[in-house]
Amino acid sequence: MQVKEVFNQMSPYTPGKQIEEVKKEYGLTKIVKLASNENPFGYSNKVKEKITETLDSLEIYPDGYATALREVLAEKLQVSEEQLTFGCGSDEIVDIICRTYLEKGSNTVMATPTFPQYKHNALIQGAEIIEVPLVDGYHDLNGMLQQINDNTRVVWLCSPNNPTGCLIGKEKLVDFLNEVPENVLVVLDEAYYEYISKDINPNSVQLLNQYANLIILRTFSKAYGLANLRIGYGISSVEISTYLNITRGPFNTTSISQYAALTALNDQEFLDNAYNQNIENKVEFVEYCKELGLHTYDSEANFVFVQLPTSGDELFQFLLERGFIVRSGEALGHPNGVRITIGSKEQMNELQNLIKTFLQSIKEGV
Ligand SMILES: *Cc1c(COP(=O)(O)O)cnc(C)c1O
Repeated sequence: MQVKEVFNQMSPYTPGKQIEEVKKEYGLTKIVKLASNENPFGYSNKVKEKITETLDSLEIYPDGYATALREVLAEKLQVSEEQLTFGCGSDEIVDIICRTYLEKGSNTVMATPTFPQYKHNALIQGAEIIEVPLVDGYHDLNGMLQQINDNTRVVWLCSPNNPTGCLIGKEKLVDFLNEVPENVLVVLDEAYYEYISKDINPNSVQLLNQYANLIILRTFSKAYGLANLRIGYGISSVEISTYLNITRGPFNTTSISQYAALTALNDQEFLDNAYNQNIENKVEFVEYCKELGLHTYDSEANFVFVQLPTSGDELFQFLLERGFIVRSGEALGHPNGVRITIGSKEQMNELQNLIKTFLQSIKEGV
């Protein structure tokens, strides 16, 4: 059987280490996973109560239009209901965008390293990938503009960027949008939007009124703590969402995920707590790294990328054997470092001590 030619140079996603797997392998009883930017405080208790109600009708197909969630979210964001597109995680929206806008002969521009699903899904659609290296963890927006040509259909901005955590400031974003040709779709992936410092909120949704070629991606997987339920969304002009809804599978989100998301939206207290603790623990962690002589990229997310004098794999392995799973930069296109999700205070204190011990051990060459 013949697959698309591009599959010869692709492989399936390699997931991070699973908790049960690590416990068994190293004989550990407790594992802390700080690898996938999940919420260390779990998710809203209100969601737990609501989910049990939706279990009554699993034999019925879900409302594919997600009407109830759509109404609440549109009101909250002050956009029209038709401007929203829901997906099985924002991952699926990325795929839907690629299937809608990309084909052989077209190209797409993105930073590197950035969230790998843009490239992965674009390749499957036969598009040419144009990657522009980050500068100090930030998008090189001018460099990206220069790469746009007549065949460019989609440009990806990840803000805060995964894996560096750097945010594209509002002014820079507006300058960029002013320069991008109107027929090129700009995807602004804000998976970590809820963690951005309140005083520098980019208010990106307001930009939709001015830029009809903009789509913003957000998710319930990160700050809302619902990664397991797989629900995310796009906010765009009605023109864009109409096309995306043609591509979208008819029942791509479940009733459980829709009602969980709706309930989570209404628990501001849970979100505020996660936001506050993240900022506090992140500031402390970055400060600690500085004292140890380690450079970190500026982060407006719930993770920090720490640069190391060694391969990220070494610290990854050291921590793994001691019960902490982090993400090695080797897997993220940035070998000399690790991406660490900010956990609870207790988790971070323990982790910080381990990093110190690791650095001492490599200095002594043991
Ligand atoms: C985690 C993440 C997503 C995907 O989240 P979903 O679980 O698919 O909603 C999208 N973009 C970035 C940058 C992410 O880090």
